[in-house]
Amino acid sequence: MLTVSNYHYIRDDFTTPYPSIFGVTPTFFKEQLLAIKKIGTYITPQELLANYDAIIKSSTNYVLITFDDGLKEQYVKAKPILDALGIKALFFINSINYIEKEVTLVHKIHLLRSQMSTSAFFEILKTFDTEGKTILSEKEKRQAVLHYNYDDEETALLKFTLNFKLSIQEQHRLIHVIFDTHFESSQVVKDLYMTEAQLKELAKEGMLGSHTHSHVPLGYLDHKDIQKELVISKEYLEQLTNKEIPYISYPYGSQEACAPPVEAMAKSTGHQLGFTMERSINTGNENPLLLKRFDCNDLPLGKNQKAFKDAHSLIH
Ligand SMILES: [Zn+2]
Repeated sequence: MLTVSNYHYIRDDFTTPYPSIFGVTPTFFKEQLLAIKKIGTYITPQELLANYDAIIKSSTNYVLITFDDGLKEQYVKAKPILDALGIKALFFINSINYIEKEVTLVHKIHLLRSQMSTSAFFEILKTFDTEGKTILSEKEKRQAVLHYNYDDEETALLKFTLNFKLSIQEQHRLIHVIFDTHFESSQVVKDLYMTEAQLKELAKEGMLGSHTHSHVPLGYLDHKDIQKELVISKEYLEQLTNKEIPYISYPYGSQEACAPPVEAMAKSTGHQLGFTMERSINTGNENPLLLKRFDCNDLPLGKNQKAFKDAHSLIH
């Protein structure tokens, strides 16, 4: 069987004027790797690819570590820890950060919200919205609060507006304008994402994968755009590194984001292993292009271990 643990931000200090960037510290990361080692056996991406059937059907709990979004801090803070422990992980990259020197939409939102309150952000959003899409009816407000029941009301309304009221294109257009008035995009790209030299080093060690071109949920796109998202980033990474890139992690990783024909198209464009965010252990019945994965918070020492414990109790 195979357990996959996924990470995003990894930094020593998460303090910002408004908390909106969440992740783990290097100290936590190392402790978690050691805790996981007690219940599993780390494998390398190449071993998984070469012995897929044997590994996935084995009674041994094999473990793979992955990182989404190509953040430089993953290379600077996490890779030395992995190296010291002799663990090979997979790092999934969005090519938009390199080809277009553009900051990924989710990171723009995280950065903006780290510098302003939810209400200030909402107000700015409304100012730029000329079509009234940010105005919610009473019914929509109730839906929002119900859907985002872990968030406070204002955050729930904001998330609902972004994710359900605005199309992906509208989100991009609005957030782009707001972001550019607060941040210098080219500097953020330099600070936030790995360098091409770092990508090459990861590829040399068999640790590089694609997170698609521009980090949009593929399942909502038409055929032509899914194809573009898959091919642009795979080709960019392969040309840069001179290595084949058979691994993909789907942005957002939800069922909707990985809905047909996403998996079939990932396969037809030459990907061999695909990772979702369906939280469970892989036991051999899954499609290799739709592997399940935990967020690191679900695993030992994490803030929310319920999903992992549930999955474990189904097996044992
Ligand atoms: Zn991502």
